Amino acid sequence: MLRRTARLLLGLVMTMSFAWGGAVVTAGTAQADGCYTWTRTLAPGATGNDVVQLQIRVSGYPGYNSVLAIDGSYGPATTAAVKRFQAAYGLAADGIAGPATQAKIYSLQDNDCTPVHFTYPELNTCNGTWAGGKVAAGTARANALSSMWKLEALRHALGDQPLRVTSGFRSTSCNAAVGGASNSRHMYGDAVDLGSGPHALCTIAKQARNHGFNGILGPGYPDHNDHIHVNQGPSHYWSAPNCGI
Ligand code: ZN
Repeated sequence: MLRRTARLLLGLVMTMSFAWGGAVVTAGTAQADGCYTWTRTLAPGATGNDVVQLQIRVSGYPGYNSVLAIDGSYGPATTAAVKRFQAAYGLAADGIAGPATQAKIYSLQDNDCTPVHFTYPELNTCNGTWAGGKVAAGTARANALSSMWKLEALRHALGDQPLRVTSGFRSTSCNAAVGGASNSRHMYGDAVDLGSGPHALCTIAKQARNHGFNGILGPGYPDHNDHIHVNQGPSHYWSAPNCGI
């Protein structure tokens, strides 16, 4: 009964969240662990796909100006990221992903493995498919997923108020149509643009430095006075001069 109540509450919270975000989702209540279920406690030294699944979900907690490698190896960086995740949600910060930590992650994800406050359609408004970019469709979609977990961490750090996604994945034709840069990370699926409200743009940009984004562009950088661009591209580049970045 408790579990059912928890699910109902989760569903209610999700419904409210999606309403705030204005996103279109199908009706139904997500199961807490309908996406992925761990079968063991994960601790430093562990390796495997279950570690990969953990790393994706704590990738928003690498620490300032850092990126967590999604390599399936539970080393010191993963341990530190798990500790930060645990602390962020009031759990005992021991760096071990046991039942309590896994349960918290389940409570934060939908059946399609996206974090509860973000959706695939929200990150794909240009043409609705993941094809036609600079990488295979599956890669673009996977990149969007890890972006969403980083956004979930950013959102939580900013007080659990909505982040307004204004652009995500773009095919090369969509990117050209909206005037994107010819080498835009939006064509890889790992870039997201965020608008202001309820947070000021600089508040978003400054906080984003803690959540695993190699690219951050904002006010003062050409064509970025009305949004914050974050990406997971391989090159480190931060520029938002009007925010002191
Ligand atoms: Zn952008």
